[in-house]
Amino acid sequence: MLDVVDRTNTKTAVVVGSGFGGLALAIRLQSAGIATILLEKRDKPGGRAYVYEDEGFTFDAGPTVITDPSSLEELFEISGRKLSDYVELLPVSPFYRLCWEDGYTFDYVNDQAELDRQIGAKNPADLDGYRRFLAYSRDVFEEGYIKLGTVPFLNFKDMVKAGPQLARLQAWKSVYAKVAGFIEDEQLRQAFSFHSLLVGGNPFATSSIYALIHALERKWGVWFPRGGTGALVKGMVKLFEDCGGTLLLDAEVGRIVVEGSRAKAVVLKDGRCFDADLVASNADVVHTYDTLLAGTPRGKAAATSLKRKKFSMSLFVIYFGLKRHRPDIQHHTVCFGARYRELISEIFKGAVLPDDFSLYLHNPCATDPSLAPPGAGSFYVLSPVPHLGNADIDWAVEGPRYRDKILDYLEERYIPGLKADLVTSRIFTPFDFRDELNAHVGSAFSLDPVLTQSAWFRPHNRDDAIENLYIVGAGTHPGAGLPGVVGSAKATAGLMIADAALA
Ligand SMILES: Cc1cc2nc3c(=O)[nH]c(=O)nc-3n(C[C@H](O)[C@H](O)[C@H](O)COP(=O)(O)OP(=O)(O)OC[C@H]3O[C@@H](n4cnc5c(N)ncnc54)[C@H](O)[C@@H]3O)c2cc1C
Repeated sequence: MLDVVDRTNTKTAVVVGSGFGGLALAIRLQSAGIATILLEKRDKPGGRAYVYEDEGFTFDAGPTVITDPSSLEELFEISGRKLSDYVELLPVSPFYRLCWEDGYTFDYVNDQAELDRQIGAKNPADLDGYRRFLAYSRDVFEEGYIKLGTVPFLNFKDMVKAGPQLARLQAWKSVYAKVAGFIEDEQLRQAFSFHSLLVGGNPFATSSIYALIHALERKWGVWFPRGGTGALVKGMVKLFEDCGGTLLLDAEVGRIVVEGSRAKAVVLKDGRCFDADLVASNADVVHTYDTLLAGTPRGKAAATSLKRKKFSMSLFVIYFGLKRHRPDIQHHTVCFGARYRELISEIFKGAVLPDDFSLYLHNPCATDPSLAPPGAGSFYVLSPVPHLGNADIDWAVEGPRYRDKILDYLEERYIPGLKADLVTSRIFTPFDFRDELNAHVGSAFSLDPVLTQSAWFRPHNRDDAIENLYIVGAGTHPGAGLPGVVGSAKATAGLMIADAALA
């Protein structure tokens, strides 16, 4: 166990940004004896997993579906500690309640008999198809997640090596196309294909490799930290600090200093400067190359090429507190709108805000009532919306209007009496993704995870030109979502620790 790092004869690292990827990387580096400083722009750590506190309500801003706890446990184990000493993970069941406007609901659970019962009741012919889909999903999970999820793709030959498996799994097909090959009922097709949206992928365009999410959830379950996702962030920060690491908040990085082919230091906007042997960025990849490396040939070239790529959708989120707890609403509810394929296409490619929406509704008090005052309920609802590069929407004007429209819809269909019970609310729009998180075009999930922007085609975990500069988080391999960014931290840390040993 390594509690105190002797800074006189160890390597030093600076990590820019304290999202889950940055935090996981900082923990791995510090645990390996590299003296690590984590610099965060905002006043709280967590990035997209920021926490708002308002009138006694606690609102997790972002991730709420916590999967693959083993990847989190590993962070604690490599530091000689136990996750359960820092944070308690509570099981969530059903994983999701899926609701359609025609009144059909499907409880997505981890109990095979109950899944079979629901699938059989909807369309008996799909029972066999579901089994074949599950087998496929497990196969992709082994190949795409277990074998390749934490391995950096630095060379094209790494991609070529993975080629035969990707071909065997028909990775060129979309998630929806693959699911539709097994399952015939349209609502069940939606039930087993919407998952890629959770990590910013269009089910009609994202590689069928993302069908692995189903097997991942079935294997390890869906969890929620007691105290909210923010409690997991706090636990990881404590672990990092217990290992001797330093986190600085309100520390916005303005520049990464490069000399020749090496990063030398990181300079904050307020002028403070941190020299480092190794520099990693968890900030948005375009922001990293375009702003933090502005004025360097590498920054210019990489930013120009990145800006030509496809970016994932943005999100519109409403956090709201109600004076009444609503135990009738499951922890995770997906409210499908009337349109699926067409709506998703408009969200990913359209130039305007669609009139209709599909929503994800979060009711954490269903699992942990401590997130609201006694008897009250803390919620958020999110609507996927086009990013700012596609749709030039003035969210300062549209935001309040869109909020009212969504709250009206929820009141009518899911939460009667919502407006009368409303104690507090706040919104987070694509403008906030852009301005608060420095996210290019306000994308909520960075680069669109299509096959041609995945693995070797995604920005690499170590920069191609600046030899001691690394990327971690949603913009590098394997991609967005907690398991993705925590996996990226493992891939990036492996490179950094090996490079530090050689230097
Ligand atoms: C509303 C929402 C719900 C989601 N739900 C889920 C879910 O249920 N399950 C799931 O697995 N995933 C979910 N995701 C996706 C997941 O949250 C993200 O993919 C993941 O958290 C991104 O982590 P990251 O490491 O890339 O860093 P980010 O969270 O993007 O953090 C980057 C950090 O860098 C900081 N930064 C930026 N610029 C600078 C600078 N110049 N100087 C210093 N710091 C800087 C930012 O302030 C930020 O803290 C959700 C995302 C959103 C937005």
